[in-house]
Amino acid sequence: MNQFDIPIVMYHSINKHPQKNPLGYLSFYPEEFEAHLKMLKKLGYELINMSDLLEMEIDYNKKIAVITFDDGFVDNLLIAREIMEKYNARGTIFVNPEYAFDSKVSDVIKSKYGWGYMNFDEMREAEYSKVFDIQAHAMTHEFIFTSGKIIDIYTEDKFDKYYWLAWMLYPDTPKRWDGDAYKYAKLIPEGFPIFEYNRRLSCQKFIPNDEFIKHALDKYEKVKDKQELISILNDDEDEGKGELETHERYIEEIKVQVMDCKNVLEDELNKNIEVICFPGGGYNDLVLQITNDAGYRCYMRSSQLREDNNINHLKKMKQGKFVGLNRISFTRNYPKVYSKAASAYWVGKISMKSFQNNNVYTSVKKILRKIR
Ligand SMILES: [Zn+2]
Repeated sequence: MNQFDIPIVMYHSINKHPQKNPLGYLSFYPEEFEAHLKMLKKLGYELINMSDLLEMEIDYNKKIAVITFDDGFVDNLLIAREIMEKYNARGTIFVNPEYAFDSKVSDVIKSKYGWGYMNFDEMREAEYSKVFDIQAHAMTHEFIFTSGKIIDIYTEDKFDKYYWLAWMLYPDTPKRWDGDAYKYAKLIPEGFPIFEYNRRLSCQKFIPNDEFIKHALDKYEKVKDKQELISILNDDEDEGKGELETHERYIEEIKVQVMDCKNVLEDELNKNIEVICFPGGGYNDLVLQITNDAGYRCYMRSSQLREDNNINHLKKMKQGKFVGLNRISFTRNYPKVYSKAASAYWVGKISMKSFQNNNVYTSVKKILRKIR
C-alpha cells in the first residue's frame, strides 16, 4: 500500500495581464503560482516533470508532484521559470506545433505583454534550461462543429465564448490573442449559426455548406428573436445544412493530430515525445488506439474523468502498458478578503490534502466555487 499518490498539477499561463483576451482566464498571477510551489515544498513534495517521471526509478514512499502547463504559453519561460528555479521545481509544457508556427512573428507582443505561444527556438530554450520538458498537446487546438443542430447565434458580445470561430472561418487569424484581441470579434458575421461543437479529436467534423450559411444570415436579418430563429433554422433537414466528414477522413485527422505532432516535435527538439495531453480532454477509444500505435507511453486523462490513482497507472506504464494519468488543477475562486498569494496558498493546501485523502477534492472545489 502506497502512502501518497502522485499528483500531476495542471496550469496554462502564468501572467500579470490575464484579462485582456478570451483566453486570459487561463492565467494564474505569478504570486499565486509562487504560493502553490511554496505550499507544495512545505508539504514535502519533490517537484518534477513528466520526463523525470518516465525515466526515474520511482520511490513510491516519497512525495512527488509533477508540474504541467498546457498550450505552450511563452510566459511559462518568461515568468514561471524564474519562480520554479527558486523552488527547485521542474515542469512539463504540452505544446501545439500549430501555435509554434503561428508564433514566428509574435516577438513584439511577447515583449509587450509576455503573452503568446512559444516558437520552436523558445521550446529548445525551455528544454536546455533543465527546468522544462516539452511534450505533445496535439497538432492544433481547434474546435469543430459536430452536427447540423444549431444551438446559438453569434453576436459580437459572445466572442469570449466563440473566439475559435475566427480561427475556423479565417485560418489566417493569429492563434494568440494580444491586447487588441477584440478586433477579431468583428471578423465573424453577426448572426452566424453556432452548430453543436466540440474539440477536434472528439468526433467526426460537421461541415456546413455555404448556401445554408447564407440562408441563415439572411434569416437573421428578418427574424430578430434568437430562439425563434434557432428553431426555424433547426426545422431544416441536417442534410441540407452540410455534411459529416467521412470516417476515413476522421482517421487521417487523428493521425495528423497525434502522429504528425509527435514527428514535428521530435524533429524540432531532437528528443523522444512520449506523453500527450489532448486539448480540452477531447478524445475517444479510437484516438487512444491510434495514440498507442504511434508510440506514446501515456496520456493525460480529462480532468473530469479521474480514475483509480496515478501510482497504479504508472506501475502498469513501467511494464510497457499505454496508460492515462489523472491531473488536478487548483481553483482561482477565492474569497476576495485575502491577498491572492495567501488565498492561493490555502486553497492549494486544502486541495492537496483532499487529493491525498480519498477524492474529496472535487467537493472542496465545489464549495470554493460557492463562496467566491
Ligand atoms: Zn489546451
